[in-house]
Amino acid sequence: MLNLVLFGPPGAGKGTQSENLINKYNLVHLSTGDIFRANIKGETELGKLAKSYIDKGELVPDEVTISMLESEVSKHESPNGFIFDGFPRTTAQAEALDTFLASKNTAITLMLALEVDDEELKRRLLERGKVSGRSDDQDETIIENRIKEYNSKTAPLKDFYSAQGKFVSIDGIGSIDDIAGRLYTAIDSKK
Ligand code: AMP
Repeated sequence: MLNLVLFGPPGAGKGTQSENLINKYNLVHLSTGDIFRANIKGETELGKLAKSYIDKGELVPDEVTISMLESEVSKHESPNGFIFDGFPRTTAQAEALDTFLASKNTAITLMLALEVDDEELKRRLLERGKVSGRSDDQDETIIENRIKEYNSKTAPLKDFYSAQGKFVSIDGIGSIDDIAGRLYTAIDSKK
């Protein structure tokens, strides 16, 4: 299986690049942000809980996020692999994912980190907020909090995957096609 973690701060282009990767490698796309938003729309209990964190730009608690992700993975019988978009975001999530995948006799192949500076992120998110309808993209304080959460809780995962020899840094500035090309090169040299 080809299991990819697509990593990077909010606004780095994870969603956009996931589209390219799903098509090219025939992977199942699991975006925890998308799953939370679907639950908010469906007004489920999980959605109500998630909304209280998302609206502040904070991470949803690990326990909730991990069990949701595991149940989503288990829905797929024999996939070519997964692209994890927006997960893991904490060390506890990364450890849980390793244990869970090992129980299914598989593992993360690569962690691809899209690198974009904070000023460019803010600009992209505010721009996206004009069309995405996402309230967490429209408020500069929430955006700053999301970037802060990323820097303190999520960025340390680079070391986690580096220690496993699975971390690849990808320049996230440029055209969508250029960035996709960088991702394909990294994946194809590891497969
Ligand atoms: P995203 O669409 O990935 O930008 O996620 C939007 C929001 O959903 C984040 O700001 C968090 O509040 C929440 N979220 C998404 N994925 C996770 C995760 N793996 N752990 C905790 N919270 C998450």
